Amino acid sequence: MASFPTTRTTTPKQKPADDALAFGRVLTDHMFLMDYTDGEGWHSPRILPHGPLSLDPATTVLHYGQAIFDGLKAFRGADGQIRLFRADRHAQRFNRSAKLMCMPELPVDVIRQSFDALVGLDADWVPRKPGTSLYLRPTIIATDVMLGVHPSHSYLYFLILSPVGSYYREGVKPVRILATDSHVRAVKGGTGEAKTAANYAQSLAGQRDAEAAGYTQVLYLDGVHRKYLDEVGTMNIMVKIGDEVITPPLAGTILDGVTRASALELMRDWGLKVTERPITIDEVMQAGRDGSLQEMWGTGTAAVVSPVGTLGYQGEDVTINGGQTGALTQKLYDAITAIQYGRSNDPHGWTSVVPEVRG
Ligand SMILES: *Cc1c(COP(=O)(O)O)cnc(C)c1O
Repeated sequence: MASFPTTRTTTPKQKPADDALAFGRVLTDHMFLMDYTDGEGWHSPRILPHGPLSLDPATTVLHYGQAIFDGLKAFRGADGQIRLFRADRHAQRFNRSAKLMCMPELPVDVIRQSFDALVGLDADWVPRKPGTSLYLRPTIIATDVMLGVHPSHSYLYFLILSPVGSYYREGVKPVRILATDSHVRAVKGGTGEAKTAANYAQSLAGQRDAEAAGYTQVLYLDGVHRKYLDEVGTMNIMVKIGDEVITPPLAGTILDGVTRASALELMRDWGLKVTERPITIDEVMQAGRDGSLQEMWGTGTAAVVSPVGTLGYQGEDVTINGGQTGALTQKLYDAITAIQYGRSNDPHGWTSVVPEVRG
């Protein structure tokens, strides 16, 4: 394994109890940093105690949002080993986001080495309670100091880690989502395919309005016709109508979710009819009214799957599967988490064991 210049903390933090973990509030003891400069490329990888960055107020990322990130998890298996889930695929998507935002790509093996080195060093931070995990947040920001709108000539890659609690403390729980035609998330030719900071800044108003109307999250429709399902702000969306599972295609506006891809592969393994095609909100609402909408769920790293119990659109609510988690949704959750925690075999080779750094 690659080793990187490492400055260890002299003041390790108190780790919260596994029971007390929320999402993203506690960061571990160390962080991984690496710099990019035009001409020199990526250089100076290093591990330091987790702490503040020092940035000039004129740093371009603070003004024009040239920033990308990704999110993946490390799981402590029943056998004590730490596994990353589909680290290569996350690293590849991170690079696709970089390209879309005019930022330099990082070699996938360097990204992987940073994951292994930092998680290995902070291995004691991977919680042990079932359902808990360690979240990895790789990020690149533009670091030129100037006020012109222009791709930066220098960047900072950083990786930070956060222990997270079980998303479902009391079992998988259905949510209420609102399909909106007053807010748009992305249009073709824009940044919808990238995990870039701006997409989340501009999702806040829709989320605020959905919460005010009594829903948990927003389901975005396409930005042109405001008719076809796109995705939820942090999850891809799937519906089961009759015996067919349908999900919107990767056509330039939605994120290529790793959980989405994994769920599709598993369902195809199981011999289910799975279709990636544009689907309108009217078709889904009609299926909800006539009862053929058997299940609906979101997919994403944070929750794995998130069943939709109620779908709202233009003042009407449809209840799906009596507001309960559907059988296929539950089966996907069980199958994916069994692979992540090493409880079942891993026929597609999705997990990789992280060597712990001792001493
Ligand atoms: C991260 C994210 C997802 C889920 O992707 P995963 O790779 O499954 O975690 C879906 N949509 C958006 C907009 C996201 O940011």
